Amino acid sequence: MNAKPSKRKADLGEDLVLLPLGGTGEIGMNCYCYGVGPSQAREWLMVDLGVKFGDEQDPGIDVIMPDVGFIAKNRKRFHGLVVTHAHEDHIGAICHLWPQLQCEVHCTPFAAELLKLKLIEHGLDEEVRLIIHKPGAKFTLGPFKLELVPVTHSIPESCALFIDSGKGTALHSGDWKIDPHPQLGHAMGEKRLRELGERGVDALVCDSTNVLREGVSPSERDVAATLEDIIKHAPGRVAVTTFASHVERISCAVRGARAAGREVVIAGRAMRNTIEAARKCGLLKDAGAFLDIEEFGYLPNNRVLLLCTGSQGESRAAIARIAEDSHPQIALEKGDLVIFSARTIPGNEKEVGAVINNLAKLDIDVITADEALVHSSGHPRQGELKQMYEWLKPKILVPMHGEPRHLRAHVNFAKANGIPETILLEDFKIARLKPGSAEIIDEAPGGRLHLDGKLIVPGEDGPARQRRKLSFSGVVFVSVLMNEKLDLVELQLVADGLPDGLAAELEELAEAAFTAQPRARRKDLGALEETLRTAVRRACDNIWGKKPVCKVVVLKA
Ligand SMILES: [Zn+2]
Ligand SMILES: [Zn+2]
Repeated sequence: MNAKPSKRKADLGEDLVLLPLGGTGEIGMNCYCYGVGPSQAREWLMVDLGVKFGDEQDPGIDVIMPDVGFIAKNRKRFHGLVVTHAHEDHIGAICHLWPQLQCEVHCTPFAAELLKLKLIEHGLDEEVRLIIHKPGAKFTLGPFKLELVPVTHSIPESCALFIDSGKGTALHSGDWKIDPHPQLGHAMGEKRLRELGERGVDALVCDSTNVLREGVSPSERDVAATLEDIIKHAPGRVAVTTFASHVERISCAVRGARAAGREVVIAGRAMRNTIEAARKCGLLKDAGAFLDIEEFGYLPNNRVLLLCTGSQGESRAAIARIAEDSHPQIALEKGDLVIFSARTIPGNEKEVGAVINNLAKLDIDVITADEALVHSSGHPRQGELKQMYEWLKPKILVPMHGEPRHLRAHVNFAKANGIPETILLEDFKIARLKPGSAEIIDEAPGGRLHLDGKLIVPGEDGPARQRRKLSFSGVVFVSVLMNEKLDLVELQLVADGLPDGLAAELEELAEAAFTAQPRARRKDLGALEETLRTAVRRACDNIWGKKPVCKVVVLKA
């Protein structure tokens, strides 16, 4: 927790401040707050409220979220949440944390469709007010004049957010790339970005995901052409797996299928949901009808294309089950082809590798982005970043959406490309963007939250930490019963996760440790419990070389 307040720098009645609650330390969990006014009466706006997915570091935790308690506490001067686009790392925490914030949620029609489904699942659809704005819309929240500027990215209706506090301006880039030939939805809002640059942008708070990559991202048009070519030449069935939310890619794969005279079958609830949301927003109009999953088996091999989820190796997703030959409706065989039309997100390599190995065992061909241009990232490489700097001419660059190495590289890249000022921020640091030069002026309390089952618990020092210990060396329980004279009546030791036979040995040692305690030292039950706990752990370390978690309960009759 970063609870301790730092030495506060001079309060200049700040014209514009930035407070990241999540998103500066890793890719995911984006949540950035903009503020205006002196610290005691600062007015706030929140942009995005995403999650990060847990890994084996935090056993049993699927979802990690930013702590928004600081904003919740200042709710009277908090004017709402604006969503830049509907990726989980930007909207995933809304249903979990909205009860604390109780704010209006501003988003585009497509994001609203996906959010509605989530709100219904959480029983919040009646409570949360979604205010829908088309990309390009201008609106005002409290002291903030806002504008959603269309950008190209890997989900429909992605926008950057232009923020004008009346005294200072920022362009919050959201996630973006420059695609001159998008295959679905709006074009990059280049003209508007240039206009805003002319008008004056104090700070560009900018996507850093691909700052380490030179050049520019390939266009979706080239990905579409590659997919079409591969599908055309495939002799058997073709399955394309991609991110469930990547409607543009889905549409490219469908076009490839149609060009090759193939019917399209969709597998995976998340993908069906996004397709339905897209259709409600007028997208995928010329994609034609998709067939039900039951029809897959009845179609000739060269007349079908399957679109499915699981590009990250998720064990319950369609492609993983197909690869294990355990999908109830779909089977692939020798001569069929699976296209991984996605990047493997760092951390998922093992899972994706396992799915590809299973497909190999079934003698099924696989094409990934390593072999052909079947995927292009939705984030800007160096060439695109430079272009954005030229359009906006910001005075300050604040890197966001990246791991520390990306943020640092982005600062250096911006300096090398003539941006006058840069500032590297960590979560919960408050930076003044205007007036004066950009600097960290304060710190807000906060940390991370874990969604643990149905409960929201602290991420640091929460139950996941203890579970990590348990997974490493198991647990020992010792229960001791003494009579009134403080003699031992019974001692029982049970263990979980320890090698066979060790528990019996430890029970004897625990009994010996009890007997070794003089009667006078048995009066303080708490101290006695601690003595036995230490003795058991030490004995275990001697025998096994590991110290399990140990719980001792002493009862007196
Ligand atoms: Zn993102
Ligand atoms: Zn995104």
